[in-house]
Amino acid sequence: MFYPEEEDMAVQKIIIAIDGYSSCGKSTTAKHVAANLGYGYIDTGAMYRAVTLYFLEHSITFTNPKEVEKALQNIVISFHHNSKTNENETFLNGVNVEKEIRKMYISDQVSEVSAIAEVRHDMVAQQQKMGKRKGIVMDGRDIGTRVFPEAELKIFMTADLNLRAYRRQQELLAKKQMVNLEEIINNLLHRDHIDTTRKESPLVQAEDSFLIDTSYMTVDEQVEMVVNLAQTRMLSNAVLD
Ligand code: C5P
Repeated sequence: MFYPEEEDMAVQKIIIAIDGYSSCGKSTTAKHVAANLGYGYIDTGAMYRAVTLYFLEHSITFTNPKEVEKALQNIVISFHHNSKTNENETFLNGVNVEKEIRKMYISDQVSEVSAIAEVRHDMVAQQQKMGKRKGIVMDGRDIGTRVFPEAELKIFMTADLNLRAYRRQQELLAKKQMVNLEEIINNLLHRDHIDTTRKESPLVQAEDSFLIDTSYMTVDEQVEMVVNLAQTRMLSNAVLD
């Protein structure tokens, strides 16, 4: 088979959308895929978590649209690269909230906040701006269906519930947070339920997405699979151009 020399082709950057259930390995995979391809990475879950933190800190009534809209005007979310940890960290109004937004009390409320129409409209608009120049890997629940329905590569991740909970527990332990497995399972079920049944862009698998069950896959295998799919997609785009 003939493959044109890479320099002969205009290899255009694409958008990679990774959606799926909580704790399936989306963020870890997305981060590594982005690093591998030299792409940007956006963790949209962190944005909803930051909004939740703000709402809780300012006692915003989730059910009051006017209060919610006003609060959203006072929220600026940004990501900054920490060169020591080589990780992107989430900032809320200039304050590093990366650690705080990963705590269980935020996980317990974030899906309620994410289901609010005003919140989604605001976050989706920001995410669309961030991906405008392509060359981005974005993970969340509605990236391939709502944020970038035209994304060149869409991945939908799933995994066994008990394995998801175990992985989440290990992640929390690494951050010195001790949470029992039952509490994590209940939280995942609760979030899955709200995420898949809400009115505003619920979590559904996009028809044109690749389904990856990460239950028995290593992170390296997940990354390799997505990078291969991305390279195939970029190559076919270049050949078609
Ligand atoms: O990805 P993570 O688990 O940190 O996301 C936290 C929550 O944010 C999810 O459970 C979901 O309710 C919400 N979310 C969303 N849409 C996205 C990303 C996250 O509704 N694009």
